[in-house]
Amino acid sequence: MGCATAYFLSRRGFRVTICEADTVASGATGLASGGVRTQFATALEMQMTLRSRELWRSFEREHDLDLGYQRCGYLTLAADEETAEELARRRPMQNEIGINAIELDRQKLDELAPGINSDDVLLAIYTPDDGFGSPADVTNDILTAARKAGATLRQRSPAEQVTGNADHGFDVQLAGGETIQAQAVVSCAGHGSPEIGRGFGINLPVSAYRQHQFLTEPIDNFDLTALPNILDPALDLYFRREGTGVLLGISDPAEAGRTDTTVTWALLEPLGERLERRWPRLVDVGIAKGWVGCYEVTPDRRALIGGHDGFFYATGFSGHGFMHGFAAGETVAALVANEVPPLNVSELSADRFADPVSHQKTPST
Ligand SMILES: Cc1cc2nc3c(=O)[nH]c(=O)nc-3n(C[C@H](O)[C@H](O)[C@H](O)COP(=O)(O)OP(=O)(O)OC[C@H]3O[C@@H](n4cnc5c(N)ncnc54)[C@H](O)[C@@H]3O)c2cc1C
Repeated sequence: MGCATAYFLSRRGFRVTICEADTVASGATGLASGGVRTQFATALEMQMTLRSRELWRSFEREHDLDLGYQRCGYLTLAADEETAEELARRRPMQNEIGINAIELDRQKLDELAPGINSDDVLLAIYTPDDGFGSPADVTNDILTAARKAGATLRQRSPAEQVTGNADHGFDVQLAGGETIQAQAVVSCAGHGSPEIGRGFGINLPVSAYRQHQFLTEPIDNFDLTALPNILDPALDLYFRREGTGVLLGISDPAEAGRTDTTVTWALLEPLGERLERRWPRLVDVGIAKGWVGCYEVTPDRRALIGGHDGFFYATGFSGHGFMHGFAAGETVAALVANEVPPLNVSELSADRFADPVSHQKTPST
C-alpha cells in the first residue's frame, strides 16, 4: 500500500519519503498468497480488483516489464445454503460490472480440479479472468518505479511520533532520531495503523488474524495446469497451484488477535479432514513447508481508505490487499492531491467507525 501510494504521488511531482519500520514487504505483503479475484459481496471491491488489474497492465506497458500475473481463474464452491444464496445474489452485480462469472457443472469442475469431491456442492461460480501474482515481487517493481520517479525510502525506520497540523506542516519523527517534515502523512502501516490513527484522533480499528499457508511437495501423478484458485467458505479452506505443488490456506478463529508467526502444526489435522472431504487425492501428499502471516482485519472485513486535513490512510484490507493495493494507492494519491479519485471509495472511510469523543486536532503520536 505504501509503495503503490508513493508511486502515484511521485508521478504527480510530490516529494515522497517512505518510512518503513522493518524492510519493504516484511509485513502481510511478503507472506500473502497473492490471489486476485472479482468475487466479492460488494460492487466496490469487485471494481477495485478490476482497476488494479487495469493499472498493472498499463504499468507493464509503461515500464516494459512483466509483473507475473497468472490468469488461472477463481472458483468459489458453495457447500451450504448460505454461501449458495450469497453467490447467487452477486451474479447480477457481476454481470452489470462486466465480470465474466460462470456457473460450473460437476463435469467441468472435475476437468479443472481432477478428483475434487462435488457431491455436496450446491453452486460453483468460476471467474476465469482472476488469478494470482507474487506480492513481494510486484511491490518491489512498484517501489523501483516510485524511486525512479523521485521517492526515497528509509527502511528500519519506524515512525514514532507525528506532530503538527495541515496548516503548518507535520514533523514525522523516526526511531533513529531523524525528523521528516511533511505537508501530508499517509498511513499504510498494516497492524501499526491503530497507533498512528490515534495520534490524529482517528479510529483505525485494524487487528491481526493469523492465516496459515501450507505448501505441498511436488505432485506428479496428476496435471495441475488448469487448476484455478479454489475457495471453499463452508470448510474455511482455499488452495491454488504453486509451481508443481499446491498451496493450501487454513486458519483457526481461536488465534484471532495473535500477532506472532509461529506455525501451529496441529492445524494439519483439520486440514487433512477438510481435504478428505473436498479433495481426497491430496490427503497423502506430503507438506514441504508451512508459514503464518497476519491479515490486517477490520470489524466488517472491508478496507479503510480515506483522510482529510493532511492525514490519509489505506489499511485494514482484511485479506484483499494485494489485489486491491494498486487501485488503493492510486485512490489515496488522488485524495492527497485533492483530486476526484477514479473510484469513489467514500464507503470505506474510517468515519464508519468514528469515535467522536477521541477526536483531537493536533496529533501527538
Ligand atoms: C497469509 C496471507 C495470505 C494472503 N492472501 C492474500 C491474497 O490471496 N490476495 C490478496 O489480495 N491479499 C492477500 N493477503 C492480504 C494482503 O497480503 C494484505 O492485505 C496486504 O499485503 C496489506 O498490505 P499493506 O501494505 O497494507 O500492509 P503490510 O504489508 O503489512 O505493510 C505494512 C508495513 O508497515 C510497516 N509499519 C508498521 N508500523 C509502522 C510505523 N510506525 N512506521 C513505519 N512503518 C510501519 C510494517 O513494517 C509493514 O512493512 C494475504 C495476507 C496474508 C497474511
